[in-house]
Amino acid sequence: MSLDGKVALITGSTSGIGLAIARALAAEGAKVMLNGFGDAGEIEAVRSELGALHDGADLSDPAAIAAMMARCAAELGGLDILVNNAGIQHVAPVDQFPPEKWDAILAINLSAAFHTIRLALPAMREKGWGRIINTASAHSLVASPNKSAYVAAKHGVAGLTKAVALEAARDGVTVNCISPGYVWTTLVENQIPDTMKARGLTREQVVNDVLLAAQPTKRFVTPEEVAAFAVFLCRDEAGSITGANLSMDGGWTAA
Ligand code: NAD
Repeated sequence: MSLDGKVALITGSTSGIGLAIARALAAEGAKVMLNGFGDAGEIEAVRSELGALHDGADLSDPAAIAAMMARCAAELGGLDILVNNAGIQHVAPVDQFPPEKWDAILAINLSAAFHTIRLALPAMREKGWGRIINTASAHSLVASPNKSAYVAAKHGVAGLTKAVALEAARDGVTVNCISPGYVWTTLVENQIPDTMKARGLTREQVVNDVLLAAQPTKRFVTPEEVAAFAVFLCRDEAGSITGANLSMDGGWTAA
């Protein structure tokens, strides 16, 4: 297995894209720490399936992030692979956007990655090898209306990725973001009612005329496709890919 013994932390890995990445990294032999919220029984089932640890740190809290990182280092060893994937969404016009939602989206989707990176990088540098993968979004490259906080945070993730890639370029540490188009997960499912309300559309109209309208392939990206790409980025053959914003969006941002 190509990642035998590597230590990997995947934030927001109790569902959707993060869970698929955690499964794929574990299948390649990585020792995994899961993070995220959800049903305790379901989390325990995944944790034992993958032989992983789970830390329920709330990523909007820098102190909780620091405690998670310290626990990961103490129980699994210094991190080799960091996947910043946790994210939330809220859909509303900017003049009606709740300030507390803005703060939460910026904290979880952007600032959390700063905190995990600043704490993970020293151990990676010491080993002379590391992989940092940030789940950005097509919204790190283009905007959609009513998603001001998400678009701002994801553009921020793309910038953070580039800056850290340059800082770590000579240390054997690559830093990239994967930018999926629409992937069918709870994050997308949950925004359908608000988008219906904000734009006065039916559920089918939101799926076909709003979500898939942007995606020339007319199908959702799958979490497994994103996970396979993340595994590739962890291989030694991907050592020259750094500072890249890698689109997996069915052609969305080519248009
Ligand atoms: P999801 O809702 O299935 O998963 C989100 C994960 O983040 C869950 O594990 C959840 O528990 C965790 N999380 C949420 N708030 C948290 C917090 N405060 N602290 C710790 N964990 C928290 O969503 P997903 O679609 O799999 O999203 C994963 C990432 O992919 C996000 O960054 C999202 O922005 C990005 N993304 C998703 C899509 C899509 O279409 N689904 C497209 C592009 C990018």
